[in-house]
Amino acid sequence: MDQKGIEHYLEAAKRAAAWHENHLAEIKKSRFDTMAVHGIYSMQEAIDFNQGSIIEPIYMSTAQAFRDSDEMEAALAYKIPTWCYSRIANPSMYYLEGVLALLEGYGSDVETSCLATASGMAAIQTAVDPFLLPDPENPTEQINFVSAAQVYGGTFQQFAIRKEKELGIKWRKVINPGNIEEWEKLIDNNTRFVYGELPSNPGQSFFDLKKVIDLSHQHNIPVIIDSTVATPALLRPLTLGADIVVQSVTKTLSTSGFGISGAVISRKNLVSKVGSPEMKADFSLYAKTLPNRDNGPNISPMNASLALNDIRTLRSRVDVQSRSSMTVARYLSDHKHVEQVDYLGLESHPLHRLASDYMWLVDAEHDEQYRQPLNRYGHLLSFRVKGSPDKARDVFDAFSMIFRATDLGRIKSVATIPAISTHSQQDEEDRKKSDIPPNLIRLCVGAEHPDDIINDLEKALAVLDGKKVSFTAPEFSAGGASSALLRRKGEDSE
Ligand SMILES: *Cc1c(COP(=O)(O)O)cnc(C)c1O
Repeated sequence: MDQKGIEHYLEAAKRAAAWHENHLAEIKKSRFDTMAVHGIYSMQEAIDFNQGSIIEPIYMSTAQAFRDSDEMEAALAYKIPTWCYSRIANPSMYYLEGVLALLEGYGSDVETSCLATASGMAAIQTAVDPFLLPDPENPTEQINFVSAAQVYGGTFQQFAIRKEKELGIKWRKVINPGNIEEWEKLIDNNTRFVYGELPSNPGQSFFDLKKVIDLSHQHNIPVIIDSTVATPALLRPLTLGADIVVQSVTKTLSTSGFGISGAVISRKNLVSKVGSPEMKADFSLYAKTLPNRDNGPNISPMNASLALNDIRTLRSRVDVQSRSSMTVARYLSDHKHVEQVDYLGLESHPLHRLASDYMWLVDAEHDEQYRQPLNRYGHLLSFRVKGSPDKARDVFDAFSMIFRATDLGRIKSVATIPAISTHSQQDEEDRKKSDIPPNLIRLCVGAEHPDDIINDLEKALAVLDGKKVSFTAPEFSAGGASSALLRRKGEDSE
């Protein structure tokens, strides 16, 4: 057989890298919606590699075959573009990673890269673990990380149990993240990273991101932001100086709700006192090719493709759902059975001003109907029902359209009571710190017409006036044979 030689592959890889770099530079000139729709996939790639398929194919394959031993050797040494084995990489995964890296860097010249994971929790673990290294000069000293106390329930468990209780790494909690002095007091030489959610789920806590970044960078410490609730349609922390963003891609990014997925998006050359030069140069690439190769929290090609499809419409969806959320929040604020509504979009919210400095609908100034920068606040809100916690449960149990589920970001409205679901593992004291009382209902507004969402809320709240709602359930699912078919039972099907 005619050996091509390893040089042949290295040369071809150089030409391909130059082509892709050019292509990427072209895409970066386009607007957010265009990036979201096309990502890194091109017509040339469709024609040359994918039989012209205009939609990115789903590569349901464990591994890649090589032309010969030279190509295999170069590939396994990561010297040529390759995906090798789906625990490490896969073309469907690349398409998702490519678009998320573009969107989180949009509107800036910050160089970004992305690593997709099996879940948001895996993304958080992937993002934080590489920093949790001892100081080589003082290997016995306890290390710590500084994070806002108001974090997602799963993150709370990962930090409080897996990191602090099991590994002895101290979680220094910032109780009032709006107060920059609190962050400052907690950071010391043994702090490995600074962490926060913007906004937090479910409490919608917010902090001054630029100040926290300045402070952390003065100490040479990276800032990691969970930006799941905002999405890059409203906030892009990397463009403001943050080092790493984590996304539960499960949520608003993949609104259809077909599956669980996550992502780490990082800036090139991030700030850190610990870690190798390779890690700091391109954190996502490092995590993908080394720790995650060894730990295996990878995303399946199917889930990557499903997420990719939803992301195409991100901006307009977030706009519509934010507007509906505002309408719903105003309605709830005026309701006699509602004690308090927390929505960052409401002027009465103590963090409204601060959030308004950061949460902007991307490209509103280029939108035909707006033509100016516009604040949008996402589709997460919560409200507290007056009276005992039982009253909140009565209202919750009376929803007929709003799904009772511990979910977020869906195209359908969903609601939960965090104290008995997502935050049930925490004790009363911790829930108090995170401001999650038992009468709080978290509502994530879907893309239904807001009139219908309000109608469902109205009927549910009327239960507190003694109005009963009664549900009758069908004995068979709508997914079964239709009644029209059953009516034809006279005709013999045999
Ligand atoms: C859901 C969620 C996570 C965890 O994501 P999974 O995909 O469920 O693992 C992390 N952060 C926030 C803010 C979330 O809402």
